[in-house]
Amino acid sequence: MDSVQAKIERLKREKNAIILAHYYVDAAVKEIADCVGDSYYLAKRAAETNARTLVFCGVRFMGESAKILNRDKRVLLPDPAADCAMAHMATAEQIERYRQEYSDLAVVCYINSTAALKTHCDVCVTSSNALKIVRALPQKNILLIPDDNLGRFIAAQVPEKNFYFTGGCCPVHAALLPEDVLAVKAAHPQAAVLAHPECKQNVLALADYVGSTAGILAYAQQSAARELIVCTENGVFSDLRAACPGKEFYLPAREMCCSDMKKITLEKVLSCLETGAGEVILNAEIAERAAVPLQAMLQLAR
Ligand code: 13P
Ligand code: SF4
Repeated sequence: MDSVQAKIERLKREKNAIILAHYYVDAAVKEIADCVGDSYYLAKRAAETNARTLVFCGVRFMGESAKILNRDKRVLLPDPAADCAMAHMATAEQIERYRQEYSDLAVVCYINSTAALKTHCDVCVTSSNALKIVRALPQKNILLIPDDNLGRFIAAQVPEKNFYFTGGCCPVHAALLPEDVLAVKAAHPQAAVLAHPECKQNVLALADYVGSTAGILAYAQQSAARELIVCTENGVFSDLRAACPGKEFYLPAREMCCSDMKKITLEKVLSCLETGAGEVILNAEIAERAAVPLQAMLQLAR
């Protein structure tokens, strides 16, 4: 009998489908994916593909972004309940209040946000392109939603602009405390510390490198350090170990696991390919308006 993997391969060919997977999903899912990456890389690949069906192994905002960039294609979420808590942590009312109060304002939307929220924003960013994009914007005032921690990390590097935030965070990254990192550092004093900018400032202050998931992988490969403490979601460890044989990777002393990313399984990937369930359906007007900040991101990040 065919394995789940073999069935997925056959259906992928039959349905002209491509499978995109974020680094945080389980290794078994990443193994059958056509592309694995961080949110910027996956959005770019989604915008470029000729496939008719995109299976997005990640959380809802990622599938929505793929659909917004491919409104004539079918985007399937293996588990439509896999969502990002932070994507709901700002409101249209907050944004409109800032627009009324500040002239010369750009509303910068971390891609981890709902499609509806994106319709109120000028440009999207991901953790790998936020600095470049914010620096390139002509506006003096920047409202960066919904992640305060990423926002403050960027603001510290762009002192010539005024930044405003709305109070959101990633519950997985923001739960990490400095003592969780220092405990592992005490056991491995030579280890370099790498962190995702969704971590709090007091954790980022301990890091030798701060960057997106793809940035962390690239840094780990290039770094002379043989031991590395990695402060981001634990899914990236399988990619780090595969990319850097001979290096030791340590988790901080607190589990960093996005339970929504872990909802994606091989069986659910097979099932959505078989039945077409989990299709991302967006209101046409919302999709059209949300495409504006996403396209602006792709343009400015080039
Ligand atoms: P990346 O932009 O690094 O892929 O991060 C996405 C994310 O959800 C981090 O929690
Ligand atoms: Fe959202 Fe945090 Fe999960 Fe990333 S790790 S998808 S920001 S909840």
